[in-house]
Amino acid sequence: MRASVSKVLRWSAVDGPGNRLVLFLQGCNFACPGCHNPHTIGICNDCGDCIPACPQGALGLADGKIAFNPNLCDQCDLCLRACPISASPMTESLSVADVLAQLRANRPFLNGITISGGEATVQAKFVEALFAAVGADPALAGLTRFIDSNGHLGPLGWQRLLPVTDGLMLDIKAFDPATHATLTGRDNAKSLASARIAHAAGKLYELRFLMVPGFTDSAAEIDALATFALGLGQVRLKLNAYQHHGVQGAARNWPKMPRAGVEAAAARLRAAGVSEVITPAVWL
Ligand code: SF4
Ligand code: SF4
Repeated sequence: MRASVSKVLRWSAVDGPGNRLVLFLQGCNFACPGCHNPHTIGICNDCGDCIPACPQGALGLADGKIAFNPNLCDQCDLCLRACPISASPMTESLSVADVLAQLRANRPFLNGITISGGEATVQAKFVEALFAAVGADPALAGLTRFIDSNGHLGPLGWQRLLPVTDGLMLDIKAFDPATHATLTGRDNAKSLASARIAHAAGKLYELRFLMVPGFTDSAAEIDALATFALGLGQVRLKLNAYQHHGVQGAARNWPKMPRAGVEAAAARLRAAGVSEVITPAVWL
């Protein structure tokens, strides 16, 4: 079993509890105009359109497949801008065994592994196989297995993933269906249902909500978030603030979410009875 992987972070302290190896899988089922990593949305179809865009000659075709030479790449990202489907020619194909080897090599420094994206569940079969293998490996005993997801996966998918998963970090992009469709291109019903499924299974580690000025910073959205969180029961709730890092296109003109607005929303949530509300630790 293999996955298309856009990036591996050997150590991260911001993708779940403790120090974690993070796998960013390629491919997403949302089309968010405000995406911070738009080149992770598509999965490469080896069309070759990005090859002439590379000034370093780091790209070519081999046996009909895109071939990337990391030794020549200066990370200018011109190939990403040339891709018509928001994919990347610089992804790598990793097997379950490849990831297990990386985990074993870094085991003394790790508390767990997190699968992020793109959208982790787009390659759900790989996540299921990897997490089952991590759980069965005595050398990796004690490592926790987390997923960072937009929740756009049905109940049958979670039935397979949750038994091998220790914690889910789930993004709710908006409560108003029309706003959610504008921000993601998709309906929010699956994401809301996923939060309920994961919470009922005791696997919802954190609910996340991205505050975007003019879209999700209204009193109506924050009150809907409070109602939803309180309906789940005890839940750790993290507010994130929209920023411009990595964003392309018209969404770069959207205003950044100011700290005062996030703090006001946090106060409103706490006043409504949501006890664990986390705000961004760093403002750039
Ligand atoms: S990021 Fe690397 S592969 Fe892509 S165009 Fe620039 S040099 Fe070439
Ligand atoms: S990264 Fe995009 S442009 Fe390059 S070969 Fe793949 S699909 Fe084509």
